[in-house]
Amino acid sequence: LENGTGVATTNTGTQISINEALKMAEGTHPVIAVLDGDGMPLYLQRSRRTANRAQRLALIARDKGCTRPGCEQPASMCAAHHVNDWAKGGPTDINNLTLACDHCHALINDGPDGWKTVVMGKDSPHRGRTGWIAPKSVDPTGTPRVNDRHHVGQSIATAIDSSCRKWRSRAA
Ligand SMILES: [Zn+2]
Repeated sequence: LENGTGVATTNTGTQISINEALKMAEGTHPVIAVLDGDGMPLYLQRSRRTANRAQRLALIARDKGCTRPGCEQPASMCAAHHVNDWAKGGPTDINNLTLACDHCHALINDGPDGWKTVVMGKDSPHRGRTGWIAPKSVDPTGTPRVNDRHHVGQSIATAIDSSCRKWRSRAA
């Protein structure tokens, strides 16, 4: 930001220069999203069914778009979805919310053809992100999967890190 270099990603997924982003931001109230080392928002709010403004901004920063594997819909086309259903007691908490476009959101149900969502556990390389479990007709293993379409940089960094570890362990 200080050097006016690099790119910013808008909520439609468009990449623009930092200078363009600063021009667009003139006259607005900037919000800083604080994320931990895994890209998880630290600032949480709860108490009502619909996500509040801070939660929506945190979801845009964290998820960047629809979280169903393979879906390319940007954040601007998504609503906040309760990973653990609100009707079943799921809280409106940032770690229980995720972005889902209308099409993908409509696929979630308890029927045999319904998709399910879960928060990826501590042992997962995608800890804290939303895993989608396809119906048995699509994936008989029932393995929760994340959407990497909006996290390409993160995937590349993970692959490089993994390759470096393998190389180091061979060299040792
Ligand atoms: Zn979607």
